[in-house]
Amino acid sequence: MAKSVLSEARFQNEEAAFAYVEAELWPNGPVCPHCENAGQAKIGRLTTRPGLYKCYAPACRKQFTVRIGTIFEDSHLALRLWLQAIHLLCSSKKGISTRQLQRMLGCGMKTAWHLGHRIRHAMAPGSTDQLGGFGKVVEADETELARSRKTKRPEGFRRKTHNPIVMSLVERGGPIRSITMDHKSAVGLVRKHVHPDSTLATDQAQHYKFVPVADHQAVDHSKFEWVRGIAHTNTLEGFFSVLKRGLVGIYQHIDKKHLDRYLAEFDFRQNTREKLGINDVQRSALAVQGMAGKRLMYRDSFVG
Ligand SMILES: [Zn+2]
Repeated sequence: MAKSVLSEARFQNEEAAFAYVEAELWPNGPVCPHCENAGQAKIGRLTTRPGLYKCYAPACRKQFTVRIGTIFEDSHLALRLWLQAIHLLCSSKKGISTRQLQRMLGCGMKTAWHLGHRIRHAMAPGSTDQLGGFGKVVEADETELARSRKTKRPEGFRRKTHNPIVMSLVERGGPIRSITMDHKSAVGLVRKHVHPDSTLATDQAQHYKFVPVADHQAVDHSKFEWVRGIAHTNTLEGFFSVLKRGLVGIYQHIDKKHLDRYLAEFDFRQNTREKLGINDVQRSALAVQGMAGKRLMYRDSFVG
């Protein structure tokens, strides 16, 4: 029988887990998070617990681990379990539920929930630069996160709130970005996220008519027109099918305020998909790199 990926040392042994994360976050050796000292002669390793270092810069002399200043710092969970969770989220095409995470890691429900959201936050892109540009095509489309009509509902079921609507924008040959529409207008979102020199490709939806871009190509699905040259939204149709199978099926009770983080997770996997030559192990390494530098942002964005 083939050995499970999760039997590798970094998922089982705390020393190995630290060594792995240190290699990703400190490619040139340890850096003191207190004083930014990176002089390797002035940093020493302590043996009292895995991953512990001491800074010998005269004004500092503090201890540290690679967890400080990263999203890893916010929990007492063993680093090897963090790495397991990251790997599970990175290698499951449709995502993984809190309950499943809890079962696989043998931790509490609350821990699993927080863990999942911290990892999703780390998957969000650091840059929110506009997509597209001169000579580039950006597809825009929307989808409603509704349960299939075939899903059985309890008797007397009444929908209390509207289903969330998601807008996704993808630069052909480039990154994807998904946004909860809430009460925002399509024009406003495109204006914010798409470079005005781009060519925009949408379906016939009238509300894209006044979007300020260099060119707008639309296909009319009501006339059974799906592709006309560059005018199609095929990239997004494929993405939406994965998104809906994941979000509507697995994450059945998403609170709207957490939806953006789930979208970041699906965008991340799409932007680092197998087709681009990125495997599960490489995708996990990219997620680990995202754990650095986002700690405060996470605290700010996290309400409830
Ligand atoms: Zn220091």
